[in-house]
Amino acid sequence: MIPLAVPDLTGNEKKYLNDCIDTTYVSSVGTYVNRLEEMVGEATGSRLAVCTSSGTTGLHAALTAVGVGHGDLVILPTFTFIASANAIRHCGAKPWLFDIDPSTWCIDVSQVERSLQEECTVSIDLNGKKTVTHSATGQRVAAIMPVYTLGNLPDMSKLHELAGQYGLPLIADAACAIGANYWDEAANESKRLGRLADLSVFSFNGNKTITCGGGGAVVGANERQLAHVKHLTTTARVWPDYDFDEVGFNYRMTNIQAAVGVAQMERLDRFVGRKREIRKWYKDSLSSYSDSAGVSLFPDTRGCSCWFSGIVLGKGQGFKQAKDVCERLKERGIEAKPFWKPVHLQAPYADCPVAKKEGGTSTDVADGLWDRIVTLPCSTNITDGELEAVSDAVREILLGQSRG
Ligand SMILES: *Cc1c(COP(=O)(O)O)cnc(C)c1O
Repeated sequence: MIPLAVPDLTGNEKKYLNDCIDTTYVSSVGTYVNRLEEMVGEATGSRLAVCTSSGTTGLHAALTAVGVGHGDLVILPTFTFIASANAIRHCGAKPWLFDIDPSTWCIDVSQVERSLQEECTVSIDLNGKKTVTHSATGQRVAAIMPVYTLGNLPDMSKLHELAGQYGLPLIADAACAIGANYWDEAANESKRLGRLADLSVFSFNGNKTITCGGGGAVVGANERQLAHVKHLTTTARVWPDYDFDEVGFNYRMTNIQAAVGVAQMERLDRFVGRKREIRKWYKDSLSSYSDSAGVSLFPDTRGCSCWFSGIVLGKGQGFKQAKDVCERLKERGIEAKPFWKPVHLQAPYADCPVAKKEGGTSTDVADGLWDRIVTLPCSTNITDGELEAVSDAVREILLGQSRG
């Protein structure tokens, strides 16, 4: 079976894990955690990084650090992994759901701009602090949370401007985007992710480009908030005694996880390079079929880290056809899967407010996209021979399907 996405653990992972056991530093204290925080900070251009037990807990701590709390709303694209919504819900808040831009699969920034203007009221207190209220529900809007889908980014310059204008913190779910860069059109330069948002959160889950087994990291432009995240994730302890100054979390990463992460980060450039080659491979071998079989490929913005690759079936196809393609690939020894089902279609979030949109329904882009996606094998250690086998099988199945 050619797997969808498995980690490559053939570097120094075993050596560093043995070192943890030999030195007995297996828990939340140890040199690997510090080393990994340095490496993530360095790689993303953030002065500080705070490692966490997962991407989800990193998001929860980040949202808590900027004051997201009970009864609040957080602006979120509906097309994301459920963990983004869960982290908001863990704060007692709810996502305010937005559609995506078809060219990036990231949040529709113009819809954000319009909805802040037309669906909210803004009040300013005596200290000049702004409060944004969602008119229909009366709930406070507490943050903007873009998601870097597959390592593509939305117009972050515009989101940064809107965040400033409305006094909202900008928290990026960069969980699947390590290694990506942001192409700033206006500035005509490439920027690293570390300082694009107040706080940005990476995941090091097993299927991500870099893995710790499980884990995450928070970076950001706002060093005061980053220090607060560190404090919150480490039980909010005031050393040296057992004093705690707020309700904290035990969201620390262990030295064992970090040992794997350090070995992985040593090969970040190689891994991201291979992810981009895989994307190009599928593009070169399948794009000529877009006419005959009606398929299209994943968005590939400048600087994209190409976490996952795959195809989008033609218009008029749906979840049944996507599952069918996966099944037929499986018969040929190839693992393929559908992708994220939007948050507004998930039972726990069915009652969340959805932003209005001019023309079409509020979520028509996400609704018309998600059920036609098929993700294809994209492990960093996939061989060219395996990529060829996948491309051949996809061509055979799609052309067969278009004939039938
Ligand atoms: C993987 C992922 C998460 C969750 O990260 P975990 O480490 O699994 O908790 C959150 N958001 C997005 C977009 C992801 O891809």
